[in-house]
Parts: sequence; structure tokens; C-alpha cells
Amino acid sequence: MPVLARASLLRISDRQQEVLRSLIDLDGWARPMDVGGRDQSHHSRTLMQLVGLQLAETMKLHAIYCPFGTHYIHENGKIKRVRKPIKLCRCKGSRKFRVLP
Ligand SMILES: [Zn+2]
Repeated sequence: MPVLARASLLRISDRQQEVLRSLIDLDGWARPMDVGGRDQSHHSRTLMQLVGLQLAETMKLHAIYCPFGTHYIHENGKIKRVRKPIKLCRCKGSRKFRVLP
């Protein structure tokens, strides 16, 4: 079932509907600011609600100092990408969101 059909069955709020449509239009990973969010606005919270309703997925962009983020290390003259296991952390990283098909 397409995501908008699932959303209407779930009777999501107008606010959730609006953010979901923006996310669909962006067609890929988006940050809260990409769907109109600013500091103190509802967008991050609304996006997390969409994740809870299984209409969207999320990935955390960890802060640079966070031990769970992606690291680039120098090894034998090459830059190697090391992704640390994603665990719950309290770093100030932001999140990105993508609509679930
Ligand atoms: Zn982190």
C-alpha cells in the first residue's frame, strides 16, 4: 500500500500530513530544516512521530566527537572509512529522515 494510503488509514494529523508530503516531495534523505523546520519548531518531533507510525525511517548524523559516528582513519597511506556500531547515544547530532515506501 502506498505511504499516503497508509497515512490516511492511520488518520494522521494535518501537521503530520504536511511534513509527510514534504518528505515525499524531497524523494530521499532529508533533514528537519529541509521540510521547513527551524529551531524550536515541531518538525523534528513530527518527523519522529512519522517514524513511530512506520511511515518514515531515520538515521542519526552523529556529532563529530561522538564515538558511534562514522570515522575516517589514515592507514597505510589510505583513508579508510570505519563505521562504528550504531548505539543509543546522547550526542548532539542531528537526524535525517526518509519516507518508507
Ligand atoms: Zn552520537
